[in-house]
Amino acid sequence: MECISVFDMLKIGVGPSSSHTLGPWRAAERWIKELKTANKFDKVETISVDLYGSLSLTGKGHATDYAVMLGLSGANPETIPTADIDKTVAAIKNTKTLLFNGEKSLVFNTETDIVFNRKFLPFHSNGMTFTAIINGRKSKSTFYSIGGGFVVKEERTNHKRNFEIKCTFPYPIDKGTELLQFCKNLNLPISQVVLENEKSIRSEEDIDSELQRIWDTMLECMYIGCHTEGNLPGGLNVRRRAYDIHQNLKGERPYNNPVEWIYSIRDTEVKFRQIIKWVSCFALAVNEVNAALGRVVTAPTNGSAGVIPAVLMYYLVIENHDGNFEDIKRFLLVAGEIGSIFKKGATISAAMGGCQAEIGVSSAMAAGALTELLGGTPEQVLVAAEIAMEHHLGLTCDPIGGLVQIPCIERNAMGAIKAINAAELALDTNPENVKVPLDKVVNTMWETAKDMHSKYKETSEGGLAVGVYLTDC
Ligand code: SF4
Repeated sequence: MECISVFDMLKIGVGPSSSHTLGPWRAAERWIKELKTANKFDKVETISVDLYGSLSLTGKGHATDYAVMLGLSGANPETIPTADIDKTVAAIKNTKTLLFNGEKSLVFNTETDIVFNRKFLPFHSNGMTFTAIINGRKSKSTFYSIGGGFVVKEERTNHKRNFEIKCTFPYPIDKGTELLQFCKNLNLPISQVVLENEKSIRSEEDIDSELQRIWDTMLECMYIGCHTEGNLPGGLNVRRRAYDIHQNLKGERPYNNPVEWIYSIRDTEVKFRQIIKWVSCFALAVNEVNAALGRVVTAPTNGSAGVIPAVLMYYLVIENHDGNFEDIKRFLLVAGEIGSIFKKGATISAAMGGCQAEIGVSSAMAAGALTELLGGTPEQVLVAAEIAMEHHLGLTCDPIGGLVQIPCIERNAMGAIKAINAAELALDTNPENVKVPLDKVVNTMWETAKDMHSKYKETSEGGLAVGVYLTDC
């Protein structure tokens, strides 16, 4: 059984894409590690990278070339100052030299050493092969970025299993029914069952400090997005909207940092229409930061990184003004577990399943997590997750210009609002009357993913990506 930690589902990184940016970045790191383990690193004479399928078709808009260069340079996506990214990439391009893992200077021509191949590799749409010349001979390694920053080397025979991961959790969970059984047997809410699993691999102190770091990153991301105006990079000239919306919503109480900002919003009288605007504003803010290659939390992907912070922020500033770290912790634990059920039973990769795998899954994660905080039973938590996904089934991925901007940024606002609605519906639902359990919708999503035409799976060859011309924007 695959064992996925909440910290696999929620990862700190930089935008704009988890599968096309974080994944290739991590793959480059893994390749370097492989070379070092095999004592080949010091003997490398030249390197090159081949990108395949979706990584090639939307790789330029999704900054895959940037990610590969940064990964090969040894930069850490969690800690690299985002302001340094453009400078580092420009230096590689201009000097035609790359400092391999920060240690070894190699000739590297971005025009010829990063190859965008239109062809797809058989296992997954996001394939990449790293090649090193060592003693005049080629040494190749192929990786797949399977969504949410996850990277695998070996093919999963049924497209669902990553056999590299061994599960050591005391309460291993593949499906919603298993999760509910553990909750019943242990008489614990979902967050506590997930916490027990996490405690089997790290101390609770470490869990708390990592979850706090994740929340701090989410909050800072919303804060930056709400306070940054102008147009996004990439050529579509998309105007940042979170800034304007925030200017119209914010109250009188002054603030100087993200935490004071929370108190200032709590002080503001918020009417019904404004609730929708606030939630949308939080979601837009995150994905504008993501589109500008800023720091975000992959949740479960970068393209859908705005949904979970927006819904959690909604809980803290609208639903419960006494909300604290314990609530944040429970929310993230539940969200992570629901995301892992989708990853195991279906996919969180838009290149495999379209946008239902990104925004649909993030909305389900947020809906379930909010339901637990609002007092729902474990059964109602899964009902909320099911409702949220049910109404994202079939959602395609068709980003204009291959950029994670249109429809991606707005789609996060929609996913967040649907999550809140799904939670409210679930709280008024008797789970015994539910016709579509979570596991059924997970399976349906996977079947829909397999039926979906490849032009709607992060290739920018269908939908809005061809219906709207760049000159229209
Ligand atoms: S359309 Fe959806 S899945 Fe595709 S890149 Fe945008 S957010 Fe991701």
